[in-house]
Amino acid sequence: MNQPAAAQPAPARRLLIVGPPGAGKGTQAARIAESLAIPAISTGDIFRANVGQQTELGVLAKSYMDKGEYVPDSVTNDMVDARLHEADAADGFLLDGYPRTLAQVDALDAMLERLGTSLDAVVLLEVDLEEVVGRLVQRGREQGRSDDTEETIRRRIEVYTEQTSPLIDVYDKRGLVRRVDGMASIDAVAAAIMEALGA
Ligand code: AMP
Repeated sequence: MNQPAAAQPAPARRLLIVGPPGAGKGTQAARIAESLAIPAISTGDIFRANVGQQTELGVLAKSYMDKGEYVPDSVTNDMVDARLHEADAADGFLLDGYPRTLAQVDALDAMLERLGTSLDAVVLLEVDLEEVVGRLVQRGREQGRSDDTEETIRRRIEVYTEQTSPLIDVYDKRGLVRRVDGMASIDAVAAAIMEALGA
């Protein structure tokens, strides 16, 4: 029997934003989330909120964050799984800062499979690494983030290069990566992302 004609592709609403520290992920995530009316879920923000409230999770996370190291996968995966089960994520989400390791990619695949869904696209912000160190030092001064000192920043970029950049290959093989020049102005980057997502 003939298959029915393929429906128009649904708009991309299950998204990741990836890029080195200081690429502008948080800023752009807020823009995309607002435009598409989906929640931006930042693992860094959830950790920082827990640090602020001195929860058990926060105390644990801080010990890693202050060194520029990743919080263990087991802790991070459970936190994201719980967040993706909240009602506002049912119709789409933008994950910012997760997954960051190959093990987290596997964990996310399993979570989405249990939810009966999958990723639509991965936005990759491409930036000049030396320039982002400068941006982060500035942010550390302005926001008083304890992980934005030059030494920690260099370590975070090293950890990104070692542990997170291999993810790009994985998602490239799945045809999901949308590359965007992250060095342009905030508005220009936002416009380029929307175009890349076909929104
Ligand atoms: P961010 O705000 O995304 O730069 O995250 C700040 C810090 O939170 C990172 O340097 C890590 O210590 C921790 N963190 C955030 N997301 C993750 C993740 N997916 N896996 C492990 N650690 C994370």
